[in-house]
Amino acid sequence: MLRKKLIAGNWKMNKTVPEAATLAQEIAAELGRVTDVDIVVCPPFTALETVGKAIEGTTIKLGAQNMHPEAGGAYTGEISAPMIRSLFATHVILGHSERRAYFGETDAFINKKVLAALTNQLRPILCVGETLAEREAGSTLKVVQTQTEGALAGVTAEQVNNVVVAYEPVWAIGTGKVATTEQAQEVHAFIRQLLTKLYGETVAQKIRILYGGSMKPSNAPQLLTQKDIDGGLIGGAALEARSFVELVSAA
Ligand code: PGA
Repeated sequence: MLRKKLIAGNWKMNKTVPEAATLAQEIAAELGRVTDVDIVVCPPFTALETVGKAIEGTTIKLGAQNMHPEAGGAYTGEISAPMIRSLFATHVILGHSERRAYFGETDAFINKKVLAALTNQLRPILCVGETLAEREAGSTLKVVQTQTEGALAGVTAEQVNNVVVAYEPVWAIGTGKVATTEQAQEVHAFIRQLLTKLYGETVAQKIRILYGGSMKPSNAPQLLTQKDIDGGLIGGAALEARSFVELVSAA
């Protein structure tokens, strides 16, 4: 198998430190020795250290949900890549649609973050996806192309090996409305084509493209059989050990 499946849990703004510790311990107990699927948990910043300790010595990896592109300085309230790295995190979610919609993040700003993450040995999980209005207007592929090309500007073929792309249709996030397997596969194949154009076939075939948006144990098996769907970025269903474990089993 060319691409190992990856299941990442995006805990968003959920879990206090004690709650995060409990969930991480449950996940570590169930999944701590899994090697045929890559597993990443992305708690809020406040719980990164605690969750990192709970999964220490397991195969589960740690990710943050955002970061600032600068290494340090006068950016009140922000967190930098070296700070995240110092907690032994290996991944960082960038360009999530909630960041784009509620915090005005542009492709240019996300691009700076992607470059900074790569410079600091953090693997970006780069989120792209269209809104319902964009899908209905027939501009899904154009939106996904602009976001992908914008975020990857200046990223070399060597660096892009460390990037994971997550296709997350905005209308499917937290809504219970999942994209059909055909809708998802169409966009995933399009993203892979785009990556092939940018970086060549060999590199593009190795990049993992995750699906995100109301993925749960009931719909994951079908989505994950699609040729270009290499895993999932899971929100709601990652907040409970049982459903997260079932999602990993489906991969
Ligand atoms: P959801 O969130 O699984 O709750 O739809 C996915 C995401 O936003 O990453």
